[in-house]
Amino acid sequence: MYPDLKGKTVVITGAASGIGKACALRFGEEQANVVINYFDDKQKADANMIVSEIQEKGGKGLIFQGDITKEKDVKLLIKTAVDEFGSLDVMINNAGIENEVPSHELSLEDWNKVISTNLTGQFLGCREALDYYVDHNIQGVIINMSSVHEIIPWPHFVHYAASKGGIKLMTETLALEYAPKKIRVNSIAPGAINTPINAEKFADPEKKEGVEKLIPMGYIGEPEEIAATAAWLASSQASYVTGLTLIADGGMTLYPSFQAGKG
Ligand code: NAD
Repeated sequence: MYPDLKGKTVVITGAASGIGKACALRFGEEQANVVINYFDDKQKADANMIVSEIQEKGGKGLIFQGDITKEKDVKLLIKTAVDEFGSLDVMINNAGIENEVPSHELSLEDWNKVISTNLTGQFLGCREALDYYVDHNIQGVIINMSSVHEIIPWPHFVHYAASKGGIKLMTETLALEYAPKKIRVNSIAPGAINTPINAEKFADPEKKEGVEKLIPMGYIGEPEEIAATAAWLASSQASYVTGLTLIADGGMTLYPSFQAGKG
């Protein structure tokens, strides 16, 4: 637990499920004020449940429906956080999507959808948070949810890999640009995590085993393990850390095929 997170205002995009939800609950446990961005009406009940859980843990929660690809929604998301809780301290750009298509068949529509959610959406979240931090002289924090696919090429997911590669240099560039103002910008690169984005794949035992073989630690990560890295990055314990991609992947990026002395 990180006592300095108590009372901080944390906005999390795509927070009604998976890693975003785990982050919302973790920051609730830290007794922060958590703004839970959810995508559509289907997620409203889940978002409300998260608020109840946060309140039980001693934090405060607020739900906000919005599409992060829409500039006006992202602006209103930040404004709502500030109007309700008086400030913004931590912005977590988490929302993301993927779909599997061989690259020669990938439509421009699918390419644009993934890039506009995963890269442009995260940029809008960064820009609005930075605008607020600079305007109000706040040494705020930004955390972008990247992926091991900012490093590992991923056939059939070229749009996804391109978006996460983009997040890497966006994070590093913004970290460099705003370091003099003591605003910290970092990313997290999860490996394979047990969330709805992977539900179909992990429901198939053969596919699940195939993924586990790529993880030297031997198991698929839990969203709470990613939320723990977000809490640390947001806390003052990481006060000198900026421009980092924190990889949390059970060793997936360590060339697992070389395990046991192969090569
Ligand atoms: P998830 O599907 O549970 O979460 C993604 C969330 O984003 C969903 O709640 C979805 O409704 C929301 N979302 C999608 N488009 C949106 C939009 N336009 N506006 C607002 N919200 C939108 O999956 P997850 O695994 O929790 O994914 C969270 C992040 O973690 C993503 O950026 C993903 O790329 C990244 N990630 C996940 C894994 C993994 O193995 N689960 C690995 C690496 C990176």
